[in-house]
Amino acid sequence: YEIPLCDWSSDVCSSDLGCKEAPSSALPELKVSGPTMGTHYAVKVVGDYPGGEPQLQHEVEQILQRIDHQLSTYKPDSELSRFNQHQATTPVEISQDLADVLIEGLRVGKMTGGAMDITVGPLVNLWGFGPDKRPTKIPSEQQIAAARLRTGLDKLHVEIGSEKATVRKDIPDLYVDLSTLGEGYAADHLARLMEQEGISRYLVSVGGALVSRGMNGDGQPWRVAIQKPTDRENAVQAIVDINGHGISTSGSYRNYYELDGKRISHVIDPQTGQPITHKLVSVTVIAPTALEADGWDTGLMVLGPEKAQQVVREQGLAVYMIVKEGEGFKTWMSPQFRTFLVGEKN
Ligand code: ADP
Ligand code: MG
Repeated sequence: YEIPLCDWSSDVCSSDLGCKEAPSSALPELKVSGPTMGTHYAVKVVGDYPGGEPQLQHEVEQILQRIDHQLSTYKPDSELSRFNQHQATTPVEISQDLADVLIEGLRVGKMTGGAMDITVGPLVNLWGFGPDKRPTKIPSEQQIAAARLRTGLDKLHVEIGSEKATVRKDIPDLYVDLSTLGEGYAADHLARLMEQEGISRYLVSVGGALVSRGMNGDGQPWRVAIQKPTDRENAVQAIVDINGHGISTSGSYRNYYELDGKRISHVIDPQTGQPITHKLVSVTVIAPTALEADGWDTGLMVLGPEKAQQVVREQGLAVYMIVKEGEGFKTWMSPQFRTFLVGEKN
C-alpha cells in the first residue's frame, strides 16, 4: 500500500490512503482547523454543513472553548481550577460535563491500578509540566514524598444527584489534573456535535485523540495513521480504520526536557513520583470513546511494556505499542487492535 499523506500535526492523524486526485464522483469535504488547549484541532465533514464552513468553525470553537473553560488547569477561573482552589473538604457543585469526565477518569484510573491518576497534579507541577515553572534541579526525595501525600484516586468523590452533581475531596489540597483526558473528551464532544447535526461522515481530532465515522469524500474509509516514534513529522508506522470508535496515542518521545543529563518525561508514575523511564515510547488505544482511549493510553504508558500487555490481555483492549529495542523499535498489538488494522510498516 502507499504511504498516505496528511497534515501530521498530531501523533494520530487522518489521511486518505494515497491522497490521489479525487475521482469526479467524489463529494466535497469541508475542513476546519486551528489551535486549541495547547494543541490543534481538525474537523472534516463530507458534503454540506448547515451554514457552511464558517458556521462549522464557529460551533466547533464554541465547544472547545467551553471545555477549556471547564477542564483547564492553566486558567485560574476554569471550573476545575475553582475546585482545586477550594481548600476545604465540603462538597462543591459542578457541571454534568465535569462530573462525567471526573467519573470516567476515576473509573479508568482504577482499572489501571492507579497508573493513570487524575490527582497526580502536585507531582506534575513539581516536575514542571503544569502551570508552575520547570525546576532547575531534580526535585528532592522530600519534595516528592510531600507531593505524593497530596495524591490518590481514593481521595476524590463525585456524586450525581437528580438535580445536581457534586465533587468532594478528603484533603483540602488535593489537586485534580485532567490534562491527559481533555483531548479525548473534546474529540468526543465534536463527534457528538456532528451526530446532532445529522452528519454521518466525519473525522474530528484534538491533539492525539480522534473520532471518525463513515466514508471520506472519495467514498473510502477514513484512514488514521499512527506515526513512527521519531522527531520527523511524516513517517507512518501503521494505519487503521476506526469507524465509529475513538483512538488516542500517548507518546513519550516528543514532550520532555533534559535536566542534569537526564531525560524528564511529562508522564509521571504516581507510585514512585518520578517521570517514567522505561522503553515504551508510544501507546495507541482504540475504544468506544476517545475519552476512554485517552485515559488508557496514559495508564498503559506508565505501566511499561510488560505490565501494560498483561492489563491489555485481561481487559481485552485494542492496543498498539512501540517499544525501543537497541537502536531500533519493536511493535506489539493485541488481537482486538488487529481487527482495525489496514496496514503496517516495519
Ligand atoms: P501525551 O502527550 O502522551 O498524549 P497527554 O498530553 O495525554 O500525554 O497527557 C500528559 C499530561 O497528563 C501531563 O502533561 C500531565 O499533566 C498529566 N499526567 C502526567 N502523568 C500522569 C498520570 N500518571 N496520570 C494522569 N495524568 C498524568
Ligand atoms: Mg492520554
